[in-house]
Amino acid sequence: MPVQKNTDKLVTTSTNLLPFIESLPDAVVIVNTDHKIVLVNSCAEEMFGYPADALEGSDLQMIIPELHRGGHRQSVNNYFQMPYARPMSAEKRFSGVRADGTEVPVDIMINIITLDGVSAAMALVRDVTYQRDLEDRLTLESLTDEMTGFYNRKYFKTQLEAQFSGFIRSGLPTSVIMLDYDYFKTINDQYGHAAGDLVLIDAAKMIQEELRPLDVGCRVGGEEFAIILPNTKLQDAVRFAERIRQRIEHLEFRLEDIAFHATITVGVASFSSADKSYDSLMKRADKALYAGKSTGRNCVISQDSLPSPSWTN
Ligand code: GH3
Ligand code: MG
Ligand code: MG
Repeated sequence: MPVQKNTDKLVTTSTNLLPFIESLPDAVVIVNTDHKIVLVNSCAEEMFGYPADALEGSDLQMIIPELHRGGHRQSVNNYFQMPYARPMSAEKRFSGVRADGTEVPVDIMINIITLDGVSAAMALVRDVTYQRDLEDRLTLESLTDEMTGFYNRKYFKTQLEAQFSGFIRSGLPTSVIMLDYDYFKTINDQYGHAAGDLVLIDAAKMIQEELRPLDVGCRVGGEEFAIILPNTKLQDAVRFAERIRQRIEHLEFRLEDIAFHATITVGVASFSSADKSYDSLMKRADKALYAGKSTGRNCVISQDSLPSPSWTN
């Protein structure tokens, strides 16, 4: 194909370029400095659900999701001011929008070219639906506990840290309840490990039903769970913890023809303006939990009932 390369810039014409971009397995969308689409290949027609003559001459915004349009316009301007070869998977996640309004996750690679005598940005656009789904599934798997479906300790910490930043910014209360099963070793010893598993799974289902969409239920250890309750004052968290404690106490677990019960001890804490990090709250919740263990178990203890030295880290 008669194309010239001028240092790193392709100089060509639409007539010459079209057969080349038609031969590519990815969508190609070429845009001028006025944000108008000047040339597409048939993969792009297929990806976005428009015929080439509807795309060509239109503003690039027609294939950008509404939410990202403002920012994208600025990015295109910046790109023309300082063009660079942007490789696939270089930055954040992108999506395009199809004619029917659905979004398609894409990865893009952009290069500056001179097309028909003027500067243009040539984007190679790849549908990455499969890769994104896989990525999302793997991310979720790495943050959740397979047995109960609750989030794991790693996620708990990142969420609590994020909640702490929110608390510092807004002052809105956030509470955490930390719960640990009582004499769980005895349940395993008396009824078998499968019975212990059953308790963890069934009680987690019940707890999940009690959670609001914003609440974050986590399994932070073997038979230890933590629930983050955003926008919740200490007293409300204590009430919530008491409801969970009572519901677990009254649950009847059944494995084959054996029925048995389990109880939990709960520690409850909220962020305080004296806290230096989310760790302080975790320590108070832990101390409250262990105070509950030493006062007989199957109870809810709030940070308020801890002796004042417990408040210092
Ligand atoms: P305490 O009231 O002081 O909390 O007594 P406990 O027996 O619950 O305390 P401890 O922490 O010593 O024992 C916890 C037990 O939980 C030990 C461990 O084998 C069991 N466990 C941890 N994870 C699982 C699990 O996934 N399934 C089952 N069946 N048991 C588990
Ligand atoms: Mg225990
Ligand atoms: Mg434990």
